[in-house]
Amino acid sequence: MHEYSLVQSLVTRVEALALARKATAVHRLVVSVGELAGLDPELFQTAYDTFRTGTICERAAMELRRVPARWACSGCGRGIPKGEVLTCPDCGLPARLSAGGDEILLETIEMEVP
Ligand SMILES: [Zn+2]
Repeated sequence: MHEYSLVQSLVTRVEALALARKATAVHRLVVSVGELAGLDPELFQTAYDTFRTGTICERAAMELRRVPARWACSGCGRGIPKGEVLTCPDCGLPARLSAGGDEILLETIEMEVP
């Protein structure tokens, strides 16, 4: 399942970061998820709760932040509001995704470093 493999790579990354900083525990994670990532937040949470057992994330709460997609003109960079025609009113160029697209970012890790 999509969510499970994402959670797996997330936890692997957290473990690597924790190891690099010699952390003994991870308290909290903040993960931002782009609106277009095609991720089911509930399923992601469930997958995380299942997967974190026995890992350094075992007692770490995860907060998911949904990031809305933003579009901008591919020519002048003018922001195009969601729901409008995805073409720049100034130069007529097609808009491209500028932020909050399909990325899944590990934003914050709170860990215990002795
Ligand atoms: Zn433009």
